Amino acid sequence: MSKNQIFSHALEIDRSICVGCTHCMRVCPTHALRVRKGKAVLYPDRCIDCGECFRACPINAIKIKEDDLSALNKYKIKAALVPSVMLGQFPDNLSIKRIYKAIYELGFTHIYEVEQSIEFLRKQIFNYQKKSNIKPLISSFCPAIVRLIQVRFPSLTENIIKLRTPKDLTAEIIIDDFTRQGFSIDEIGIFYITPCAAKIAAIKSPVGEEKSVINGVINMNSFFNMIMNKCNSNHYTEEELMEIQTTSLPPMAITWSLTRGEAQYVKGRSFAVDGIVNVCDFLEKIENDEIQDVDFLELRACDESCAGGILCTKNRFLTIESMYKRASTSYNKRKNIKFNKNIEKLLINKMNITSIEPRPMNLDNDVEKAIKKLERIREIMCFLPNIDCGLCGAPNCKNLAEDITNNKAHISDCVFIQYKNLTDTEQAKNILTKIWGENIFEKDCSKKGAKYEGS
Ligand code: SF4
Ligand code: SF4
Repeated sequence: MSKNQIFSHALEIDRSICVGCTHCMRVCPTHALRVRKGKAVLYPDRCIDCGECFRACPINAIKIKEDDLSALNKYKIKAALVPSVMLGQFPDNLSIKRIYKAIYELGFTHIYEVEQSIEFLRKQIFNYQKKSNIKPLISSFCPAIVRLIQVRFPSLTENIIKLRTPKDLTAEIIIDDFTRQGFSIDEIGIFYITPCAAKIAAIKSPVGEEKSVINGVINMNSFFNMIMNKCNSNHYTEEELMEIQTTSLPPMAITWSLTRGEAQYVKGRSFAVDGIVNVCDFLEKIENDEIQDVDFLELRACDESCAGGILCTKNRFLTIESMYKRASTSYNKRKNIKFNKNIEKLLINKMNITSIEPRPMNLDNDVEKAIKKLERIREIMCFLPNIDCGLCGAPNCKNLAEDITNNKAHISDCVFIQYKNLTDTEQAKNILTKIWGENIFEKDCSKKGAKYEGS
């Protein structure tokens, strides 16, 4: 497997607390989860880090990995790369200067807003459209969508615009700035504040790049709490706040990460689709030619795009309101100002993603073996009821048939087959234990809905 094909993941299942309820398995858009021995199991080659399982887990057994702020100590330049959606998390009466001040107190030496590169990127998307005859072109903004296409819609991989995302382009500006000032690359630490798991995974194993230029990732929910603690425990004087320089962004940049943020600026017939279920549905129609003559697709895995990221703390609609308020008071004058020529030259050299490879959920890399496996799956399907009950620990009957073919499950895992074939209760018990764990047979009055719930 090439480097481009290895996905690292931001999600971890805490097996010590997972109760095997299957909620996560049922919402996963790439069928990357199973329940075995009463615990959720992740198939890493299928997971796209969309975070749907995290949202669905009723007991928070799915955790999101993040870097610790102590990682800042390795660097002389400690730059926080902040998306505008993060500033939208705070109460409207908390000024951006106070937020910046708190970020400096947390140990950062510099703050950059991710969307500083948007004016440049918008122009490049326009040029890309002009040169390309592929329809529809699909935005590369949302990393969960890029991975979804690689895994589940591989024939559309070539439709993804091979331009790097705003966070990477802004990181290049930061690196250029400090290397010009004489700092070595090892002295510059760039930490992205992320609203979702997919962006963590994209930084840890970027698609089409050997290594990310971003050095660490901090989760937005924990960062938000740290900033609020600082703001609540310190009274910053007007004088202290006067020194703080904040970034000026045009309205277009502030709202770029929201639904229609990109699509409204491209030429031709465009759609902005958000929410993973809607995106899958739309892509199926594109793949089957049920929807044609589309020029551009802005696809985002979360409802309301980044405002609905799993690591956002504020209600997504209130976040959008705050971001539009900020956009309405941000300056419009800069609209006509040209992007600094030197930076433009730098970014033109750095803007391309070399390649995005399809990563289909193949039954086998060997075509002959794959055909044989497909035949076997079809044979097994003759016996399975095809009602997708999920009681076997797989999301649907076809996935169970695949798992059986790949020696990861047994036909007797299907409860209907058990009912038909098993007369030996001990054997039935062994099978149920294999899927649901020992505890499934035990009386437990503390479980949800039982007599002593929660005791
Ligand atoms: S993050 Fe998304 S793709 Fe990965 S296991 Fe969870 S729901 Fe499935
Ligand atoms: S949702 Fe998934 S991870 Fe959470 S308890 Fe249920 S099976 Fe375990």
